[in-house]
Amino acid sequence: MARLTFVGAAGTVTGSKHLIETNGQRFFVDCGMYQGPAAVTKLNLAPLPVTPADVEAVVVTHGHIDHTGYLPKFVKDGFKGTIYCTPATAAVIEIVLTDAAGLQAHLNDHARRHGGGHGIADVPETPLYDMDDVTATLALLKTVPLHTPFTVCGATMSYRNAGHIIGSAFVDMMVENRHVIFSGDLGRYGRPLLYDPEDLDTADVVVCESTYGDRVHPPDPLGALQDALHAALTRGGPIVIPAFAVERTQDLLLAIGTLQGRDERIAMLPVHVDSPMAIKVDAVFAKFPDVYRPIPNSAAAPFGCRNVTLHVTTDESKTLNTLQGPAVIISASGMASGGRILHHIRNQVGNPKATILFVGFQGPGTLGSILVGGAKTIKMYGEIIPVQAAIANLAGYSAHADKNELLRWLGTLKNKPTMYAVHGDPDAVTAFDVTVKTQLGFNAIAAVRGNSVDL
Ligand SMILES: [Zn+2]
Repeated sequence: MARLTFVGAAGTVTGSKHLIETNGQRFFVDCGMYQGPAAVTKLNLAPLPVTPADVEAVVVTHGHIDHTGYLPKFVKDGFKGTIYCTPATAAVIEIVLTDAAGLQAHLNDHARRHGGGHGIADVPETPLYDMDDVTATLALLKTVPLHTPFTVCGATMSYRNAGHIIGSAFVDMMVENRHVIFSGDLGRYGRPLLYDPEDLDTADVVVCESTYGDRVHPPDPLGALQDALHAALTRGGPIVIPAFAVERTQDLLLAIGTLQGRDERIAMLPVHVDSPMAIKVDAVFAKFPDVYRPIPNSAAAPFGCRNVTLHVTTDESKTLNTLQGPAVIISASGMASGGRILHHIRNQVGNPKATILFVGFQGPGTLGSILVGGAKTIKMYGEIIPVQAAIANLAGYSAHADKNELLRWLGTLKNKPTMYAVHGDPDAVTAFDVTVKTQLGFNAIAAVRGNSVDL
């Protein structure tokens, strides 16, 4: 009988790692990094239940760092197997792991020189890995398109569209005659950019994410964005939008482009994308046009959005430091836990005319969650800065299915499997389990980190 161990993202929303042992062999589904406060990120240093050299493969669901960011450390520690992913995910992985290696080197360098991180997140004393480890990791990637069967340790599986970010997939697997689904991160229904998650058929076991298992997203994200931009225009200062470089930036450009066509005030707003990584992700969209919906007017403007200036170099980024009037600045990271967005927040958070507009999940302990939580002051780069800018948060642009969308997806199953809830804070997981039991009649169980179950 195959055995599943919840190595990561059990009781947390980051660090996705699931170990499957079958026929005396081992493989992982996802190999993500823990992110957030020190109590969580220190788990990146915890020993794994297996020696990496004894693992045959990693089956990656999508390119986000909390699903892929541990791979170079895994390789550094001896993993020599195959890393499976979809073609678009391979392109995303190259971007995010390169960025992760650079970010760790930068944070550690900063910590050495200033005796601490950015005053926001705790920093390990040495980076988990460097660019050489990333290069060795990329050499192990093997791409498999959606709906194409492949075999890992005797288990046959295929990727199916999860609708979460470009290239994202859930894994549909037969292992020792048991039908097992790993949701990875599940996307949304009816989004402008990505296709809906594919329906399920039957399953014995579903390992399902539950990030928003206890919440429902607001129904009209475009209307909410329009209202938020109007409020920011009335305040009169810059509008700083922290956005994940992978997909959220592109979602926002598409949304602002749509609003430009129907709203004169928004049509006049200059839009600055200050994220070299987001610009690299744009290239992934250009390379894989078949994996997302056609975009109107995209030939003339990026993601159909006009008045866009892309800022690649540091000097180009610095031109935004003196910005006074209304203009949108989109920069990464989405939770303000690193990257160029920190400079824009430092520049604008004390400006009563400015607006800082968050557009997604803010992990506990991140600067984003501190600001969204209503902090009156923040500490950045050793300075205490009063929060004078308007702080707003739009939940509607999440790339994760909400409670109803998770139920809709699970409800496409023709039978009632056992479901293990992963990738959620404990409250969300508990609430989601109750909902799945009562509404769908599944045997719903919260995954516990380190626990093993027979499949
Ligand atoms: Zn994700």
